[in-house]
Amino acid sequence: MPPVAPTSRQLASDNYAGLCPEALEAMQEANIGHAPGYGDDRWTTEAADLLRGLFETDCDVYFVFNGTAANSLALASLTRSYHSVLCHETAHVETDECGAPEFFSNGTKVLTMAGPEGKVTPAGIRHLVEKRSDIHYPKPKVVSVTQATEQGCVYSPAELRAVGEVARELGLKVHMDGARFANAVAALGCHPADLTWRAGVDVLCFGGTKNGMAVGEAVVFFDRALSAEFAYRCKQAGQLASKMRFLAAPWVGMLRDGAWLRHAGQANRQALRLHALLTPIPGVRPLRPPQANSVFVDLPPGAADAVRGRGWRFYDFIAGAGSRLMTAWDTSDADLEAFAADLRDVLGSSIR
Ligand SMILES: *Cc1c(COP(=O)(O)O)cnc(C)c1O
Repeated sequence: MPPVAPTSRQLASDNYAGLCPEALEAMQEANIGHAPGYGDDRWTTEAADLLRGLFETDCDVYFVFNGTAANSLALASLTRSYHSVLCHETAHVETDECGAPEFFSNGTKVLTMAGPEGKVTPAGIRHLVEKRSDIHYPKPKVVSVTQATEQGCVYSPAELRAVGEVARELGLKVHMDGARFANAVAALGCHPADLTWRAGVDVLCFGGTKNGMAVGEAVVFFDRALSAEFAYRCKQAGQLASKMRFLAAPWVGMLRDGAWLRHAGQANRQALRLHALLTPIPGVRPLRPPQANSVFVDLPPGAADAVRGRGWRFYDFIAGAGSRLMTAWDTSDADLEAFAADLRDVLGSSIR
């Protein structure tokens, strides 16, 4: 028997969490009776309308199963095979999608830049675009930003506008990987439109899974011209759900009363609480104050394994440094106190 943590909840990823009640209830409502397939149902229409209302614009919305599909199909719709996508070197599209963006775009190359907090910068974008202008270089076409970043940081509206401006100037489209977009909105307290189309974002992959759904991400095209034939891409990639209502209904459940933002805000607050619990522990060094729903810490040698020996799970070096502790919509105070107590305990006893 593997060791069992004092709680069944973990700090490994927000995708360890189950479904939040709002998502589950909406799925149960959608489960009553029959409904048309392939998105011709009232749930899909309502979810897309709610997203248009949320963003206060007439965007084009699609639902796919996961984030890799959302990102790579969105990027494919913005590029041709000889183009390139510019992103941070730790971006999920570069490091965690098994080449899916390149595959679905038939060869579009992902070009990366370094930078603090997992963020692309106007200077980095300009450098990758202007360093070559010859026919032998894959033509830069898209800049991809992750909000919140893999390092758990958030782009401010001003940072996004600066990216948007340099992108316009250089003829690039802007894609946002928003697997944790809800956490970023909750952290910044600004209008979702100010973090997207008003800052120059052309397409957002809005994550539902890590926010408390079972499955499902929304691909939101603010520039509707870019979504031409997108439905065919989804179908060809195996991303057109025949029982689409079960991807869409949780969005209705989450959006109709603001649960998406409440849960993200709660996860963010728990990251702050965890940071406060860990900071006083001798030898434990948080890398930065949390901005969204993760805490990155350096632990003394042996401590990570020792606390894993008590049943806890979490990743090391996920975005280059430290151990990553991730909170979710359902992370309780007791979970965090139990983790901090176990960490204190192993540091006091087994590590010297
Ligand atoms: C989780 C995540 C995704 C989506 O991953 P899937 O496993 O394909 O759903 C995309 N981007 C980021 C930054 C993520 O953390």
